[in-house]
Amino acid sequence: PSFKEFGLSPAMVSNLEQLGFEHPTEIQAKALPQCLARRDVIAMAQTGSGKTAAFGIGLVEHLNPRLFAVQALILCPTRELADQVSKALRELARARDNVKVLTLCGGVSIGPQIGSLSHGAHIVVGTPGRIQDHLRKGTLTLDRVGTVVLDEADRMLDMGFEDAMEDILGQTPETRQTLMFSATWPESIRKLSARYQQDPVDVRA
Ligand code: AMP
Repeated sequence: PSFKEFGLSPAMVSNLEQLGFEHPTEIQAKALPQCLARRDVIAMAQTGSGKTAAFGIGLVEHLNPRLFAVQALILCPTRELADQVSKALRELARARDNVKVLTLCGGVSIGPQIGSLSHGAHIVVGTPGRIQDHLRKGTLTLDRVGTVVLDEADRMLDMGFEDAMEDILGQTPETRQTLMFSATWPESIRKLSARYQQDPVDVRA
């Protein structure tokens, strides 16, 4: 298969070519059409499978750069993963003008993050604890979020982020698209999906 078959914008297709993405990976071929159709997706995918672009391409395509509000939120278990996801999304966002991706993780002072948020961001990538801190302070609002991604959802559960995810998801619109990526499918992941997703499509690569 080729990326041209998914109805992507010409700018995205040429950006993917520039990134050296000639053919979609298996998870991309299966998840991308569902993501683009705004379906909820529960995907079993490991790191290295191309999962970031599987959700990132749709996020970037759906954004409205002229709306200065957070339109996509990606929750990650660790700062390392959040940094990696932000970097990948910035590369994908080169297909659009002026898309701002902001990383919000703990372990660094909150002041500069508040400053960055005041300038507006379209996509926020972060760890649950720090996202909650911003929500409590009122420095981040999620009422224009169209898509939430729970990346490595099984690890977030293992790390005790269940209540934090509930708190955060509860502050996003009910009409949102919810994408879950997980390396394993324990019962707890199926429960999380049942609770926060609507009619999800199962994707396994
Ligand atoms: P991920 O699983 O999202 O961490 O991606 C693993 C690596 O594969 C990253 O370095 C991506 O840049 C790369 N990658 C993702 N999709 C493709 C693709 N369709 N073709 C070639 N490389 C890709």
